[in-house]
Amino acid sequence: MRRVVILGGGTAGTMVANKLRAAYPQEQLHLTVVDQDDHHHYQPGYLFLPFGQLAPRQIVRARHSFIPDGVDLVLCGIESVDAKAKTVQLRTGDQLSYDTLIIATGVQPRPEATEGGDGPEVGKSVHHFYDLAAAESLQEAMRTFRGGRLVIHITEMPIKCPVAPLEFTFLADAFFADKKIRKKVEIVYVTPLDGAFTKPIASRELGDALAKRNIALETDFAIERIDNETKEIVSFDDRHIPFDLLVTVPLNMGPDYIAASGLGDENNFVPCDQGTMQSLADPDIFVLGDGGTLKTSKAGSVAHFAVDIFMENFPDYLAGRQLTHNFDGHANCFIETGHGKGMLLDFNYETQPYTGAFPLPVVGPMTLLKETPANHWAKVAFRWVYWNLLITGRPLPFTADMYLMGKKVEDTASGTSTKDLLLGLFGRRKHGGSAVTAPKASARPTLPSSAAGKPAAKSSARPASRPAARPAAKSAAPAAPVPAYVAQKGVDSTADAASVLPDPILPKF
Ligand SMILES: Cc1cc2nc3c(=O)[nH]c(=O)nc-3n(C[C@H](O)[C@H](O)[C@H](O)COP(=O)(O)OP(=O)(O)OC[C@H]3O[C@@H](n4cnc5c(N)ncnc54)[C@H](O)[C@@H]3O)c2cc1C
Repeated sequence: MRRVVILGGGTAGTMVANKLRAAYPQEQLHLTVVDQDDHHHYQPGYLFLPFGQLAPRQIVRARHSFIPDGVDLVLCGIESVDAKAKTVQLRTGDQLSYDTLIIATGVQPRPEATEGGDGPEVGKSVHHFYDLAAAESLQEAMRTFRGGRLVIHITEMPIKCPVAPLEFTFLADAFFADKKIRKKVEIVYVTPLDGAFTKPIASRELGDALAKRNIALETDFAIERIDNETKEIVSFDDRHIPFDLLVTVPLNMGPDYIAASGLGDENNFVPCDQGTMQSLADPDIFVLGDGGTLKTSKAGSVAHFAVDIFMENFPDYLAGRQLTHNFDGHANCFIETGHGKGMLLDFNYETQPYTGAFPLPVVGPMTLLKETPANHWAKVAFRWVYWNLLITGRPLPFTADMYLMGKKVEDTASGTSTKDLLLGLFGRRKHGGSAVTAPKASARPTLPSSAAGKPAAKSSARPASRPAARPAAKSAAPAAPVPAYVAQKGVDSTADAASVLPDPILPKF
């Protein structure tokens, strides 16, 4: 029996635990998920909290209820990984041995890594919305803001959901317009990039969307410090941007145990193969979700597509064969643009976001790179999709490989088909009998204290006895045969240079 330990039970960890358990019987794979607490956060919900559009209870659920039967869930902090000995050291002093390790501990905001990021103005005029406590605090600041200069700022790329700061900006514009004080609020968007976004076409479209709303764009801003006294952000090239309310997205870093294990780069991202998500240092370690060095967005959609490719490769990995399925960096990014509209970007490592319909050719119902109500409603519906389909590993009508006209037929795309989608919607499996080790999981989700989700330690500032492997009683009974995972051929849409449509934007379908 092969022991697979999954570090992190967030988006990617929960998804891959569900997919592996459905695909392999317990006699073949012993699965353990480790996470520091029992609170699974729907992080896209943080964006809506400051505007009072979602409440914390809609964002947090009990982690254990999404871990399938027959998977051990260990609730404990991770101290380090010894890749040579193939062991994981837990904060309790216990050790887990593994044959295969999946790192899915994501990245976390580190405000203290920027000078002044933990100064006296934090929680007063300096805020962020990249964890639950901070987003709640920002809600109060937005509610009581009566006018002045609102600065939205990104410390450094990459950050998870790179469009979230733009979405916050658009929603703030709409929020103050609805409150009839938009004219009293000057909004400035400050980014380290040379435009509104990383991809040139999207950058142009989003830059136009900012200009249309009378939002100033300050580019190439490499922050040196947040001056809490003068209330301004200062760049290394000595630009000073004053604020009355600062919403700054902190540096995003992987957890400290990555550094302690010698597995990461200076941001604690784990270097991995762009196609297979296999660690460059150790072939028995994979990185799924935000924690790796994939050159695409850190986003739940990317985690989803990468997990699908991982699943396609896993039989070959188990058999010691070469991994043949390559992730193409496919990302979908929904962008809330305010007043009930949204935009959708679809791109991969090589391609620009295109226009066209999504996910179905011509029919849509979503439209790429255009502000539409359907895109907004898709983002609203995504919360239900996240809890009910995405993290439970059910099929979705989005293909892991980004497809272009004539390149791939929707129904044979890897991972999903219309038939799979219907089966996913109506063929709900029951979860809930997994083995949970200390601390005991509460039956009902309790909201974390304000300290939960905060970055681990200030010291990590930038720059510079195995738990019981009890199989769950329920899942031990072979009530239904475990369906074999059927690998489908993935097609790398970037392999054929002729299929990459050039700028200017051409229709995708
Ligand atoms: C404001 C915001 C808006 C977003 N909007 C979108 C969106 O619209 N669409 C989209 O696709 N994505 C969005 N995302 C990004 C998305 O949430 C992440 O990309 C996704 O959650 C990454 O999954 P992951 O499994 O890598 O990490 P996570 O889901 O963050 O899970 C990591 C897990 O590891 C655990 N962990 C970390 N360190 C330790 C440790 N030392 N010991 C034990 N456990 C540990 C954590 O508790 C956590 O449960 C958004 C993110 C934010 C912050």
